[in-house]
Order: sequence, then structure tokens, then C-alpha cells
Amino acid sequence: MKKAVILGERQSGLVDVPDPQPKENWAVVKVHVVPMCTEYKAWVAGSPSEYLGHEAVGEVVAVAQPGRVQVGDRVVVMPQYPCGVCESCVAGDYIYCEHVVSLKEFLDTPEGSATYAQYLIKPDWLLPKIPAGMSYEQAAIYCCGLGPSFQAFETMQVSAYDTVLITGMGPVGLGGVINAKYRGARVIAVESIPYRVDYAKKLGADFVIDPRASDALEQVRALTGGKGVDMALDCSGTVPAERFCINATRRRGQVTFVGECSQELAITVSPDMIRKGLTVRGSWHYNLNNYPKVMQVIQNSPVAGQLVSHTFPMSQIQQALELSASHQCAKVLLKPWE
Ligand SMILES: [Zn+2]
Ligand SMILES: [Zn+2]
Repeated sequence: MKKAVILGERQSGLVDVPDPQPKENWAVVKVHVVPMCTEYKAWVAGSPSEYLGHEAVGEVVAVAQPGRVQVGDRVVVMPQYPCGVCESCVAGDYIYCEHVVSLKEFLDTPEGSATYAQYLIKPDWLLPKIPAGMSYEQAAIYCCGLGPSFQAFETMQVSAYDTVLITGMGPVGLGGVINAKYRGARVIAVESIPYRVDYAKKLGADFVIDPRASDALEQVRALTGGKGVDMALDCSGTVPAERFCINATRRRGQVTFVGECSQELAITVSPDMIRKGLTVRGSWHYNLNNYPKVMQVIQNSPVAGQLVSHTFPMSQIQQALELSASHQCAKVLLKPWE
């Protein structure tokens, strides 16, 4: 099969590797659509990478034993290789599993883990079926499109009574706009790139604030009767945006971080948390039991279908990564057989 790899700084290409073979409850999926995520960062940084991607949509083509999926099933591919038996896994919170399975140990080869590939291998319980009538392309926003904000809003119980601030209008932040509007909330988006400002408005953001404006915080206050927003979600993974979320949220409000960030955020417990009564949490991906609800958003939101801005054949991996790195896009899809 063919898979895409990063060869060096702004260099990528396709290589041939052996097809994965099914084993025990691990099924082989023919990948029809690969939603692109943050892989472009390694391409920009020049970090060679042989196993790209964690999101995929496709069709089961081989199983080793009867189980939860059958050949021909249309499925989405959940990320990671969690153990399936620990407390977190059993509760559906498999993303927090501390006993992730090593492909190299289980299969004697790491091949089959990449999603930027024509085939991959996955435990059957991480291959939920795509509802009838939904295309592979529609299902492709199930992961780092709608997923992170879905779980954050579910946990914060965002509803039509709330004003929600969302910082960073990349694919995850734009997915946040879709989820927040689906729940009836009023949305204040924060973004500076014109393409993404326009995209947020197209998906229904009620207001978009430029974080570079010296009065950005005052603008949020003016829109919320001087109090601040009820909830805030950071999707940018930058410290200034995280700080903005804390400052812009009202007393007794909630802040959730879903944007990956390794920089230190300074929080002063008394003024930021105790005396504001603020709840600040991190959230990664979504509970597997919420998969049907995420599918409902895809089926019923009038704008969910607009989250994908571009589709490339995988043979044009260079152009696809170039576009992702430019930020002149929303969710970008690859077609590994084209
Ligand atoms: Zn586990
Ligand atoms: Zn992702």
C-alpha cells in the first residue's frame, strides 16, 4: 500500500509499505478519507515522520475473527491504541488510557498505525459505524472537527441560555462554532486571520473579535452586559488566548482548554479562580458513548457540511500540507486512493 510521510523541512512524499493483516479483534480498514489535523507542524519544523495522522474514515476489508465489525462495514477510526480493559476504556474515556498498546509488540510491526495511508489496522471496538445515508466525507468531521468542542460543551452543559467565547478558528474552533450554535448558544469567536474570521461568520458566529485589538476584552464585556461570557473554550493552544479566556469569563463561569499547548500559563489562584469562582479544566477528545450524539450534530446541523473547505488526492500531499500550514483553510481532507 501507499502511505504519506514527512521527509524533511517542507518535504513530503509517498512510500510503499506492506499492507496490515488482521489479528485477533484488530480489523483492517481501507481508508477512504483522511481528515488532516496538526501534521503540517512536523512538515514545517522539518521533523521526519513515518506514521502520520490519527483520524480516518473507511471500510472494514478484513477481520481475523467474528466480532463487533464485519467486512463491508463503513466506519470511522477512533484515535490511539488504548487497552480496552482499564477503567477509563470501559467508561468510554479511552483517550485517557494509561496502558496504550504498542503496535510493534502486538503486530511485530508499527506499519498499519498511520492514517495517511491506504489501509490501517484498529481494534474493532474503536471502529463505530457511520449512520446509513451519511457519506464518508460528511463523517470525516467526527474527530478533530466536532469532537473536542462537543465534549467540552457537553461537560459545561452549554445551552441556549449561554454566551460562549471560542478562541482560535482552526478546524477545532470552527467545529466549536457549529456545536455551540447547534445548542442554541450565542457565540463570540476570537480570530485574526481574515479567511478564518469569514469562515466563523459563515458557520454562524454572532461576533468575531480580533485578539490584537487593544480593547478586545472591553468588546467582550460590552457584548455581555459588563459581566463576561458564561463559558469559554480555547482551541488555539496559545497562552495569550488561554489568558483571554480566563479574563473574559464571568464570575462563577467555566473555561475549558482543548488546544494542545506546552507553554506555561500563569494562573493566580485567588484573583483568577477562588474570588471569581471560576472552573478551569482541560478536555481531550470525547467519550466514545457520545459518538451517536456527534453523528446527530453532523446529520442535523445546517452548517456542519461546510466545515470541510478543501479535498486533495493523497498524491498531492505537498500541496495539502502547504495549504494546511498557510491557515487559509478549514478542515482539509485527503483521498488516499487518488
Ligand atoms: Zn485502557
Ligand atoms: Zn486530530
